[in-house]
Amino acid sequence: MTSAPIRSICIVGGGTAGWMTAAALARMVRTGVAITLVELEQIGTVGVGEATIPPILTFNAMLGIDEAEFLSRTQGSMKLGIEFVDWNAPGHRYLHPFGDYGFDIDGVKFHQIWHRLRAAGQAGALDDYSLCAAACARNRYAAPPRDPASPLSRLVHAYHFDAALYAAFLRDYAEQRGVARREGKIVDVALRGSDGHVERVLLEDGSRLAADLFIDCSGFRGLLIEDALHTGYEDWTHWLPCDRALAVPTANIGPLTPYTRATARAAGWQWRIPLQHRTGNGYVYSSAHISDDEAAATLLANLEGEPLADPRPLRFTTGRRKRAWNRNVVAIGLSSGFLEPLESTSIHLIQAGIARLLALFPDSGWGDPERDAYNQLTRSQYERVRDFVVLHYKTNGRDEPLWRQVREMDVPDSLSQRIALFANRGRIFRHEDELFAEASWVAVLLGQGVMPRGWDPLADALDPAQLSVMLDRIRTTFARAADAMPLHSDWLAHHCPAPPLDLRKAS
Ligand code: FAD
Repeated sequence: MTSAPIRSICIVGGGTAGWMTAAALARMVRTGVAITLVELEQIGTVGVGEATIPPILTFNAMLGIDEAEFLSRTQGSMKLGIEFVDWNAPGHRYLHPFGDYGFDIDGVKFHQIWHRLRAAGQAGALDDYSLCAAACARNRYAAPPRDPASPLSRLVHAYHFDAALYAAFLRDYAEQRGVARREGKIVDVALRGSDGHVERVLLEDGSRLAADLFIDCSGFRGLLIEDALHTGYEDWTHWLPCDRALAVPTANIGPLTPYTRATARAAGWQWRIPLQHRTGNGYVYSSAHISDDEAAATLLANLEGEPLADPRPLRFTTGRRKRAWNRNVVAIGLSSGFLEPLESTSIHLIQAGIARLLALFPDSGWGDPERDAYNQLTRSQYERVRDFVVLHYKTNGRDEPLWRQVREMDVPDSLSQRIALFANRGRIFRHEDELFAEASWVAVLLGQGVMPRGWDPLADALDPAQLSVMLDRIRTTFARAADAMPLHSDWLAHHCPAPPLDLRKAS
């Protein structure tokens, strides 16, 4: 291979996706590659990505970011899972905690053992066997030790943070490492006649910016990947009908919970994300089932603290770009697709897009195999995450029109097969490249009320008396460990206090 290396990269957009990409490329790509990011502050960013999942730790570690500094600068807090309220029936709640339940024994999955003992009245609630759930129930948190023998090492966490502050933090990081930022509006995109690659972008002030590789982080619109290259979009609204959201920050009241809350409402669901300086709230809804005014009234009537701004409207179409990498443009972030934020996966999909790009980094030969692999992996990841999100809708127990519609809809075969397999004997298998582990599927399936008819017969081969002792020990150990943790708010105040902010200005 004699192709020349990529010498210049242009990132279009300075939202979470743009600055995450800029920071990662500045850190990982060899020196001698010029990286420029163009953004127009006036256009603004979506910036409501405030809840994350545990792999964000890998991204921050790759950048060498200090956790305490990061949490302090982003008003961040800890997240140990998501509490789902009213998805099954009014008053019903369950937790999707991070990490595993209990311990597998002789190759038998813990939840199978639990199911067998539970049927015999010898086991408590499944949450009793999750350290994250025990900590959530007490609003407590402690940093997990490195020693894998310690029960505390079972505490798996992610973060809540202010997305705008995260982008600003990463902007500092990227600029310090040589990324050049250009303020300006892109008004046109020039394609090369020979191969249809993007040659340069034209800014409103008349200047032009050429590059070998373009990363489209321009948000839902997809300035390069769609407007210029007409790549196409696969619409998944028939499985995920929510298409609008209203977001509003409120003053913090009550204890700082180390988890996100997702409460089902008549035409969608409401999020609650506690940060150090405020709480993020929003109503994600289906515009076919409720008007914007009614949605705003529902949201405002169901806030815990004083609103700090007017509700901010957002519109979206759930789905994915048909090819995330087309010619010399790689779409990362909302330009590559969107799955509603129920399981906080968007920032992860940005991170995964960046990781794939680094693993398949092109040269000027623009090999088809790399592009094809990138697109295939992206598609597969989007579809698996989609199935997990659709699961919450398909198995709901509510009675309003939206909820009846999604309960009765046909879902992708990949999902219906999984539900059927679980409903039979509680079996669940993680696909190779799948984001959500078995424990996550178990948490949501059981939480949504899919109780398997039986359990894995291998669980019958184990001695029930020994199992019962083991389950008691796990429950007691986790409860004691959680009791000994500091309150989440005290832990944050001690390890990474964030500076006070003018809340109304910051909103
Ligand atoms: P944007 O934030 O839209 O940024 C686009 C950038 O492109 C901006 O900088 C803009 O200036 C620039 N731009 C656009 N056009 C031009 C132009 N012509 N010239 C120059 N610059 C231009 N994700 C999570 O992980 N967790 C969550 O809890 C979560 N909650 C969400 C809730 C809602 C309601 C929504 C809609 C999304 C949520 N997300 C969440 C997703 C998350 O917000 C996005 O993944 C993230 O913000 C990335 O956005 P982006 O950078 O791709 O696009």
